Amino acid sequence: MTDIFETLESEVRGYCRSWPAVFTRGEGSSLTAEDGRTYLDFFSGAGALNYGHNNPQLLQPLLEYLASGAVVHSLDMKTPAKRKFLETFQDVILRPRNLDYKVMFPGPTGTNTVEAALKLARKVTGRQHILSFTNAFHGMTLGSLSVTGNSMKRRGAGIPLTNSSKIPYDDYFSGETTDFLWLERVLEDSGSGVDKPAAIIVETVQGEGGLNAARAGWLRGLSELCRKHEILLIVDDVQAGCGRTGTFFSFEEAGITPDIVCLSKSISGFGLPMALTLFRPELDVWDAGEHNGTFRGHNPAFVTATAALETYWRTGEFQQQVKARITQLHEGLERIAASVEGASVRGRGMLAGVKFADDQTAGRIAAEAYENGLLVETSGPESEVVKLMPALTISAADLDRGLDILIEATRVVTA
Ligand code: PMP
Repeated sequence: MTDIFETLESEVRGYCRSWPAVFTRGEGSSLTAEDGRTYLDFFSGAGALNYGHNNPQLLQPLLEYLASGAVVHSLDMKTPAKRKFLETFQDVILRPRNLDYKVMFPGPTGTNTVEAALKLARKVTGRQHILSFTNAFHGMTLGSLSVTGNSMKRRGAGIPLTNSSKIPYDDYFSGETTDFLWLERVLEDSGSGVDKPAAIIVETVQGEGGLNAARAGWLRGLSELCRKHEILLIVDDVQAGCGRTGTFFSFEEAGITPDIVCLSKSISGFGLPMALTLFRPELDVWDAGEHNGTFRGHNPAFVTATAALETYWRTGEFQQQVKARITQLHEGLERIAASVEGASVRGRGMLAGVKFADDQTAGRIAAEAYENGLLVETSGPESEVVKLMPALTISAADLDRGLDILIEATRVVTA
């Protein structure tokens, strides 16, 4: 029998292609394939499923909404579902954190919110240049691709992507640099030839770039530099946000307040496409119609997003539970790293993994884990990092089970 996935679907699919299973059902942290095998899912839809598959707390209101005959698609028209989401986001997320942001719905995906952020920063400042970081990943459309620190992916555009420069991310020099004096120096020197950028865009943990986690002090230094030089600070929290690092926003631990924040992936909570761009109110300089798109009003996503915030973020209980899972995850990762010469733990919170010597080792461990019922992906410039992103709602028992599979896969491959 010919396999239509092989004959008709483009080769461009990427990493998920290495999983030959055809997945039929999802429940919490597990996926079931057509052949009846079940897998523990530590991939979580690339971070879009922080509350697991088909979470009943989100599914129920979604089913009720769809059955009620309410509006599904509304662009930027007003609907009760959108009103409820905005009210809940303000009450549960913004107000308790003393954050004063305007909320924009830039389109369905992560790259849409990054595009909106870059465009807004250029409009507000009247400057063109954007600084981003080595190994950054911000999306695949031309603006977000231009700030992505991965030459292979940028090359795919086929045209020069200008108006952005990459500067070293924290840890690039193995902890040698702890401040931004070098950048301050060239920005203050009118003869340096360095144009003042409109914005600096940063991920607090580089998910695709190999789970590089910026230190809180480094992020504070970056924030101070931006403030001093009137450069807008954009935090791309598309992957690290929505609780992944243990707080709702990944920058909370560093105590910084970005000018613009990008959210997507797990903001709808249910795997439905949704994105938000948050910005300081005084940056709201858009002219009507200046940035729009058809899928900005996905009401089923507003419904599940509201349910996710109500269920998990209204009180601090879930956050405490996530903190316990984070400790458990990191203990397991430390054990794995300690068992292999040269391996190290990477990342922060539930966006973490182990860096191995090369892509061969990481790839073989991921393949061995798959054979034993665990889905993990690899990341990093050389795909040398085994990356774990379990659902934040995972049980302690399932997390242990997944870690045991990974420990054994590592033993088999590196023996
Ligand atoms: N920013 C970050 C930090 C991401 O990890 C991603 C997706 N991996 C994106 C932006 C782009 O999101 P999307 O794929 O939904 O366009």
